[in-house]
Amino acid sequence: MQDNSKVVVITGASSGIGAATARHLATAGMTVVLGARREDRLQALVAEIEGAGGKAAYRVTDVTRSDDMQALLALAKERFGQVDVMINNAGLMALGSIHKVLAEDWDRMVDINIKGVLHGIAAALPIFQQQEKGHFINVGSIAGHKVVPNGAVYSATKYAVRALSEGLRQEGGTIRTTLISPGAIDTELPMGSSDEKTVAAVKAGYADAIAPERVAESIAWAIAQPAEVDINELTIRPTVQA
Ligand code: NDP
Repeated sequence: MQDNSKVVVITGASSGIGAATARHLATAGMTVVLGARREDRLQALVAEIEGAGGKAAYRVTDVTRSDDMQALLALAKERFGQVDVMINNAGLMALGSIHKVLAEDWDRMVDINIKGVLHGIAAALPIFQQQEKGHFINVGSIAGHKVVPNGAVYSATKYAVRALSEGLRQEGGTIRTTLISPGAIDTELPMGSSDEKTVAAVKAGYADAIAPERVAESIAWAIAQPAEVDINELTIRPTVQA
């Protein structure tokens, strides 16, 4: 039987895939602990979930700060007694030609997409080790499988998430690791570039993007597997996406 009493920490829960996943898991009966920087969004989402009879908490969290991430996990553990799933979802896609040397965008992507995931791993791992169980769900991308023009640095960060996930899995023992690799999903992600022309081009390429709820359902399915089953990777993209 499915265990819906799980406590799930989600980064990047203020919009897109993270918010859709929070709603979906809370509706299924799980307790969700939400982290992101935009407090108004987190507050509204927690109120919505609680208003529907669910359990949720939030903490303003910048994933680039290890102390913020430690505090987010501490909140989950102290308030709800355990952490069953850590979803490292926060991310930034600042696309642009590598020849333009958009060094600030490179820094932001490395800090959020790679170091943010590492901070999440570091904060959750001691809890999982003590419990002798846990589940990392890291949100990578199909960009972690192939590089396209203007996507080199974003891809590099997502290849890194894939490598981290595989390493975690190999050394995980009873701790599960799932890599989620989405294609075009209809969220605020295309807005991440610092260059307006790139944002417009990326948005045009998202015409067939699918709803973030589809990713949330896949995450829920991976969580629902029995403890001895680890779904290692799920790739989800619009049917028409090349
Ligand atoms: P959104 O832009 O809607 O969500 C990104 C989330 O990350 C927001 O909640 C944002 O919250 C949070 N975030 C960004 N920077 C930080 C930070 N420093 N600290 C804490 N939170 C942060 O996009 P998606 O929902 O699409 O993105 C979620 C994940 O999915 C990302 O890892 C992305 O790379 C991945 N992905 C998305 C695809 C898509 O097509 N949409 C395709 C493939 C992968 P806030 O600003 O409030 O901090």
